[in-house]
Amino acid sequence: MNYFRRSGIIFAVSAPSGAGKSTICANLKQTPDFQYSISCTTRPPRAGEEDGVDYHFLSEAEFQRRAGAGEFLEHAAFNGFRYGTLKASTRQAIDAGTDLLLDIDVSGVAQLRALPDPWIREALVDIFIMPPTIAELERRLRKRGTETDGQIAERLEIARVEMRHWRDYRYTILSGTMEEDLQKFRAIIRAERYRSSRLTLEGQ
Ligand code: 5GP
Repeated sequence: MNYFRRSGIIFAVSAPSGAGKSTICANLKQTPDFQYSISCTTRPPRAGEEDGVDYHFLSEAEFQRRAGAGEFLEHAAFNGFRYGTLKASTRQAIDAGTDLLLDIDVSGVAQLRALPDPWIREALVDIFIMPPTIAELERRLRKRGTETDGQIAERLEIARVEMRHWRDYRYTILSGTMEEDLQKFRAIIRAERYRSSRLTLEGQ
């Protein structure tokens, strides 16, 4: 009997905040054999966020220490705070054949793309979620109600810059309803899971 063993995939998703990325990620988190990659950040937790679940919330000093020790695959500053993806847990998941979902910004994905390590080059699938318009993005951000007017203005400015980078990504999803976005995302996941280069034939 033939069967395939498959190496893990890094699904790295970028989207301006408010583009619907967290809803998509929240849905995908519930899918079995799919692991959400927990980043480190110096940003304080928002209401309802849990340490070790949404992020590893670190002090600036601890973040610096880990960055200095080379513990991050990539790290970036975003809106005054620092964010980073841990190398060891990422490698472990990929070697174990577990697919990871990384919710990281444009500069973080650019760093991953530039890494020479064959295991990352093979595993990386980058996806950009494009908001329909800046006005819609603003509406979604206001509806979320977690940021002040000033923070919303900053995030919209970052969004304008991030949206220029969509062509650098292997896939782009133009955001519609949450269900449409999820369907498109699932289609990408399914196809990537069948790529021959990720499979090893076992048994016979
Ligand atoms: P938030 O503060 O809204 O949770 O995240 C702000 C931004 O930081 C989002 O665009 C998110 O994708 C990004 N981000 C979260 N974790 C990481 C990470 O580990 N690395 C990088 N480069 N960006 C991250």
